Amino acid sequence: MMRRLSLVVPFYNEAASIQPFADAILPALDAIPGTSWEIICVDDGSTDGSLLKLVALAQADPRFRVLEFSRNFGKEAALTAGIDAARGEAVVPIDADLQDPPELIALMVQAWREGAEVVLARRSDRSSDGLLKRQTAAWFYRLHNRLSKIRIPENVGDFRLMDRAVVDALKQLPERQRFMKGLFAWVGFRTVTLDYTRPPRAAGRSKFSGFALWNFAMEGVTSFSTAPLKIWTYLGVLSAALTLFYGLYIAIRTLVFGNQVPGYASLFVAVTFFGSVQLISVGLIGEYIGRIYMETKQRPPYIVRKAYGGDGTPG
Ligand code: UDP
Ligand code: MG
Repeated sequence: MMRRLSLVVPFYNEAASIQPFADAILPALDAIPGTSWEIICVDDGSTDGSLLKLVALAQADPRFRVLEFSRNFGKEAALTAGIDAARGEAVVPIDADLQDPPELIALMVQAWREGAEVVLARRSDRSSDGLLKRQTAAWFYRLHNRLSKIRIPENVGDFRLMDRAVVDALKQLPERQRFMKGLFAWVGFRTVTLDYTRPPRAAGRSKFSGFALWNFAMEGVTSFSTAPLKIWTYLGVLSAALTLFYGLYIAIRTLVFGNQVPGYASLFVAVTFFGSVQLISVGLIGEYIGRIYMETKQRPPYIVRKAYGGDGTPG
């Protein structure tokens, strides 16, 4: 029995990766018996001619479908669009730069046929990423998983296979700011994990700079945990208690020894310390209010300018 599956690929300025990607992915998909594939390419507002190359692919091979965004909406939005458009019985998001090995898809499909609803691909070796990226990633997972009830599996990216049931569950999540790794983890389902070694990029450069990764991490933590908001209550109680004892101590000392003027240093330290604690906590509250604000606007996570290909109907 033929089973139809969907591959979802986000492209942002990947002109140099497109041909190598197609050359590697098509034989890998053809080698999986009993499956037929649609390959949904999401052009996330590329400015380097990626779109033309993708449309050419779609015209030459009806398995390719292309969604063209009206601007760059980011990888999470591109994945969301691809998943929304997918018609397969299972969906596999994969990066365009061949850092997610196409050969692994056959093993994912096999695990899916054996009953898994989610098949994760875990990077057992990330030496192709820099030391800094690996270390900060490790910290992120540790912090996130300690703060949030939803555990994000470590060293698992967006590359995975999801059964139709999982995809339909994902599509029910209404949030506009989509931290996909967290959403994937939130829906649950029967999960199997495969290990692989992450190769370096086939061509081009990574789209995620240090600051983009920091924002991504902030989004991950604030999307799935309110613990950072609650810390301040406990810190406040603790410092109020300490202040009370210190106040008592000063009062008694003044009663016993009279008023001695010194104390300027401790006053100064206390004022600046509590001033900064308050600034940090207000900033954190602002982070959440910002997210509430963005959500209440109810803007769609992405806008498609045009769709190409699929069912032999380009344009
Ligand atoms: N990507 C995207 N929109 C963006 C940034 C990235 O669609 O705004 C795509 C990119 O084209 C690639 C995937 O997301 O297919 C992963 O990006 P990248 O390889 O730069 O991330 P890294 O592997 O360095 O984490
Ligand atoms: Mg990459």
